[in-house]
Amino acid sequence: MGPDMTTTLAVANQKGGVAKTTSVASIGAALVELGQTVLLVDLDPQSCLTFSLGIDPEDLELSVHHVLTKGLAPSEVILPTSDGPDLLPATIELARAEADLLTRTGREHVIKSALDDLAEAGQSYDWVLLDCPPSLGVLTVAALTAADGVLIPLQCETLSHRGVGQLLDTVHDVRRFTNRKLQIWGVLPTMYDGRTNHSRTVLETISATYDLDVVEPPIPKTIKFAEAPAAGRTILATSRSSKGAKAYREVAATLLARAKAGKKGRAKKR
Ligand code: ADP
Ligand code: MG
Repeated sequence: MGPDMTTTLAVANQKGGVAKTTSVASIGAALVELGQTVLLVDLDPQSCLTFSLGIDPEDLELSVHHVLTKGLAPSEVILPTSDGPDLLPATIELARAEADLLTRTGREHVIKSALDDLAEAGQSYDWVLLDCPPSLGVLTVAALTAADGVLIPLQCETLSHRGVGQLLDTVHDVRRFTNRKLQIWGVLPTMYDGRTNHSRTVLETISATYDLDVVEPPIPKTIKFAEAPAAGRTILATSRSSKGAKAYREVAATLLARAKAGKKGRAKKR
């Protein structure tokens, strides 16, 4: 399978607590249920993705930091997880990567080259999901540079979405300078309370203001999400038939359909 059969999706929003990590873990597990091979990449020094998939960052000698700043082969670091996806884990060392990379030529391309190396070594995946840190720094820009698409989780509770404009500015810069093919796949409404009109109003306002697609269905707000990471599994395993698990399965199916349509388009062009 060639590297262009891989769909690489950056899950980004510089705001913390909007369910980036939860979405990466849950969509990854749901894609595996759909028969896809999936690699998740933890790009946050807080290592929440790594931790929530049952791996203690403190037990790791090697992590994504070594791949991005020391040129280690990703295959030396990738681990399997109980939920099905493989993981390129992070540790707190990644906090230094941002500074280390700042003075490096080609820093925007470090993730892209690591994934290309992996594919060239014969280890390619149907999906690579990049869990971005809560900032618009070097790591997020490098993730957007490596991605085919960006998915923007948005919490529908508050109207303070000024950050979305900044994120879109960054996306436009990346398109202009480092990755022309980057597409915005849309916003994913998270922590959605369908019982209130408020959530729906917020969502409509955002998608109209920024002219963004909304990826359906919205992910409902449920306490079940708080329980899963402590068990080292996603909600798809800890609460299989909950509304939240069901919503993430539907989102994964939506994304898969979009990827397949995109690949067909690419195949035709050849
Ligand atoms: P981010 O990666 O954007 O910082 P997280 O995925 O870590 O966000 O989520 C932040 C917190 O919100 C976590 O404690 C998580 O368990 C919780 N959470 C995520 N999605 C939901 C949801 N749909 N309903 C309720 N809580 C959620
Ligand atoms: Mg996170």
